[in-house]
Amino acid sequence: MVRYGELSTKGKNRKDFIKQLGRNVRAVLHQFPTVEVKPQRDRLHVTLNNEDDKQVITALQGVFGIENFYPSIQIDKDMATIKKVVLQMAREQYTSGATFKINTRRQDKNFEYDTNQINNILGDYVLSNVAGISVDVKHPDIAIRVEIRMNGAFISSEIIHGAGGLPVGTGGRATMMLSGGIDSPVATYLAMKRGVKIDMIHFYSPPYTGEQALNKAKQLTSVLAKYSGNIQFIQVPFTEVQETIKEKVPEGYLMTIQRRMMLRIAAQITQDRHCSGVFTGEALGQVASQTLESMLAINDVTTMPVLRPLVSMDKEDIIKISKDIKTFDLSILPFEDCCTIFTPPAPKTRPNLEKSRKFEAYIDVDGLMKRAIDNIKITDIKAGEEFLNQDQDVFAELL
Ligand code: ATP
Ligand code: MG
Repeated sequence: MVRYGELSTKGKNRKDFIKQLGRNVRAVLHQFPTVEVKPQRDRLHVTLNNEDDKQVITALQGVFGIENFYPSIQIDKDMATIKKVVLQMAREQYTSGATFKINTRRQDKNFEYDTNQINNILGDYVLSNVAGISVDVKHPDIAIRVEIRMNGAFISSEIIHGAGGLPVGTGGRATMMLSGGIDSPVATYLAMKRGVKIDMIHFYSPPYTGEQALNKAKQLTSVLAKYSGNIQFIQVPFTEVQETIKEKVPEGYLMTIQRRMMLRIAAQITQDRHCSGVFTGEALGQVASQTLESMLAINDVTTMPVLRPLVSMDKEDIIKISKDIKTFDLSILPFEDCCTIFTPPAPKTRPNLEKSRKFEAYIDVDGLMKRAIDNIKITDIKAGEEFLNQDQDVFAELL
């Protein structure tokens, strides 16, 4: 029995939210053919039938929009049956000296007993049939939950926390600038958590960057697809842009102009795909390129919203999330991405906006952009798909 998260506060959008969550839950459970998913007004029911409960629970824990869920037993709404199941659950969980509590909710107002009566009847029954057990309504060791609903009684004793957030797809669609680093996958996760459907944009520079770096970005995408369903991965050839910049632009501004070109191209792709914003993994103060002055000089190229979920986070907290979402081990694989190779030894930490504009005029911005965009390649990436095959041990656990 799945409880909705923030959905309950969303008034008139509620219907769309529930429908989208139902679709997303069905999508992550597609490999369990007998599972039934029924989104209802105040709860979503996932009926296990013959499927493995542990695997289904793990899959549900990754779905945004779920506050928590109770693995429950559905039985007839008949007091004798309810008593039997509740007692059995209490016995299964009882350890010497344990306390318990019965917590009843009643949706079916025509049921013969009200919540207080049900709590009392079941409480008394457990007390007189489990030697040594006692009641503690504030901090019970065993909390048995009884829901009397129209379609039956649901008994549970375990509550599992969900991923929270909003169902992916209810927050519009945006692109993400994905490198192979630690930050951008975490930023992607946080964007998805707010319900945004993400298309990935990844710049690569063959032959300076190898197939492995590209595959690493795809592999990260397939890990992130667990939280959102399939992701469109857009790879953008960036070699010509970088070589031209290297040749024409003063060294102190290489990085700024590269970033301006990346953002210009990303913004154009974003617009072409009818997406409404570009996410990045930038955080303030992390590296030379991530100062406010630098953001001002780079952001200058577009009026498209540029969204930076990590902007004020500490590196430690970012790393913690990347470990939790299983992108960390991939991110630290040592395949150089296109930026590291063309990064000058001392990039300007405080680039000047006017100078950035001036130096950028040394290159053929429109021609370079057009050729890069004409040669993008798009792949539809599924959760768990494999792209890196060098050291299977590293990934076996992640997928
Ligand atoms: P990350 O850990 O995400 O790589 P970082 O701390 O290494 O970030 P930068 O390398 O300066 O910082 O990159 C800042 C942001 O620019 C990245 O988070 C990402 O959004 C974008 N970016 C960098 N390189 C690429 C790339 N090759 N393709 C797409 N986006 C990129
Ligand atoms: Mg990086």
